[in-house]
Amino acid sequence: MMKNDALLNDLAHCGSPDTLVAAILNHRPDLTAPVDVEDLSRSIGIASFTDAHDGRFTSGLSIDTPKGVVNILTAPTFSSPRRRMAIAHQLGHYLMKAHVGDRQCATRDLSESRRDTPRRKEEMQANRFAISLLMPKSLFLTFIDGLGRPSVSHLAKIAEAYGVPLHAAAERYVELAKGLFAVSLIKDGIIRYVMPGRGFPALCIGPGDTAPSLMQDSVAWIQADVRDWLVLSRDLRPPVMTMQVLSKSNGLKIVLLSINAAAERRADEEAEKAATESPKFGRRPSR
Ligand SMILES: [Zn+2]
Repeated sequence: MMKNDALLNDLAHCGSPDTLVAAILNHRPDLTAPVDVEDLSRSIGIASFTDAHDGRFTSGLSIDTPKGVVNILTAPTFSSPRRRMAIAHQLGHYLMKAHVGDRQCATRDLSESRRDTPRRKEEMQANRFAISLLMPKSLFLTFIDGLGRPSVSHLAKIAEAYGVPLHAAAERYVELAKGLFAVSLIKDGIIRYVMPGRGFPALCIGPGDTAPSLMQDSVAWIQADVRDWLVLSRDLRPPVMTMQVLSKSNGLKIVLLSINAAAERRADEEAEKAATESPKFGRRPSR
């Protein structure tokens, strides 16, 4: 694919990961899953893709100034989904005007979701770009609609169809699926990732923590113990939370947590009503 000057011109006016992806999709409405990220990168000015042999980073961006030749590097040990994610991540760094110069990213940067330091914020933005680009919203919504009712088994199907790592598929899923979800990936009893969707209650566990015990596989929704997962407040009624658990052949456990937001709102209203209508003790009924 040749350099697309009209697209480059539009991209020069974008300042956020989401507006960048919107401009790309506007020029490339033909994109289908899995998105051909190398072809797309070439049309945006990436000249070459080479192996990263420096052990200090697993993906990077090198800009040969003053010639302006741009190269994306990825570790030769990366699986195809991880490599695609890394290329899209570096393309994000390249297109974000605030991310200046060459980049050298570690594997953990490819799943960074925090924004508490300038560096982490840039990594998070590059991931946001990569996820939105590799799983375009309208394609993704149609795809998960076709899969039927939410199920933990859908996550691997999404990762395969879009050629992305499981954690990236999970992140897009909790963002766009109808409902209130969080996903956790667990390996050898340790939490690898937790991705809560927007509005999901605060979780009490994060990457590196010991996973809750006694998690039997279940593709049916079963009651989850909220104390294992959520930050609980003495003043607030804990929500009812259900989960599905699926073990993969590589020993990875995927947990999909769900809260029925509408039922929780109704329960809150009922509790409030009961509190205000409670009998006033010590008062005679009026005639
Ligand atoms: Zn990065």
